[in-house]
Amino acid sequence: MSEIELQNLSKSFGELDAVTDVSLSVRDGELLCLLGPSGCGKSTTMRMISGLETPSSGTVYIGDADVTDEPAYDRDTSMVFQNWALFPYKTVLENVAFGLKMRGMGKQQRRDRASEMLDRVHMDGYESHSPTDLSGGQKQRVALARSLAVDPDVLLLDEPLSNLDKRLREEMEIELKDIREEFQKTFVHVTHNQDEAFTLADRIGIMNDGRLVQVGEPNEVYRDPKNKFVEEFLGDTN
Ligand code: ADP
Ligand code: MG
Repeated sequence: MSEIELQNLSKSFGELDAVTDVSLSVRDGELLCLLGPSGCGKSTTMRMISGLETPSSGTVYIGDADVTDEPAYDRDTSMVFQNWALFPYKTVLENVAFGLKMRGMGKQQRRDRASEMLDRVHMDGYESHSPTDLSGGQKQRVALARSLAVDPDVLLLDEPLSNLDKRLREEMEIELKDIREEFQKTFVHVTHNQDEAFTLADRIGIMNDGRLVQVGEPNEVYRDPKNKFVEEFLGDTN
């Protein structure tokens, strides 16, 4: 069963075709990486799944529902950004509890839930800290806790590890794997880093110039690149 289904999705900004005719199914419980060079349309595709961007044409299904015209807050998705997007004047706990108010939880329940999620990402003890005191890796843990707290079916991660150095990135890759095992979610993970994609993904979707050029399991894509672009992109180890 597919959890996310994109049918012929396109997005233009004026003259610029950012995303062109992307069709893709993401299975329930799968982690799919969208991989490709900067500017190829990964974030725009992701933002159309989350509802932060309206497609110029095409359809987005989540679960069985056509959500193309649904606002972001009505979709069962939660997004983690490269720059964390934490509120600097709220504490760590308040940041994680933030989205829960709209879900009708009482204050104590929100605090308990936020605290539980912070424990889960090994950030217990930081509840009353300001996000500005934290390292990049710690901020990303808090952002992850915030996304998990609302218990979405779909987690959308846009370059979540790209602001981290290599050591922290590897540490967070392990964390993400653990979280996947524990929480039954469907993940779309955007990255321009092929090591990250090959480490984490069940399947990889490779994008170039607004188009989805190949989708497959990591070893399949690696062994049998569909065209010259994929071959050269995967061959470039920089
Ligand atoms: P990626 O995430 O793969 O780096 P993006 O989806 O962010 O790529 O961008 C794809 C293309 O669309 C780029 O050329 C980018 O400059 C352009 N773009 C993205 N968002 C906007 C916007 N809001 N307005 C105009 N152009 C945009
Ligand atoms: Mg991007």
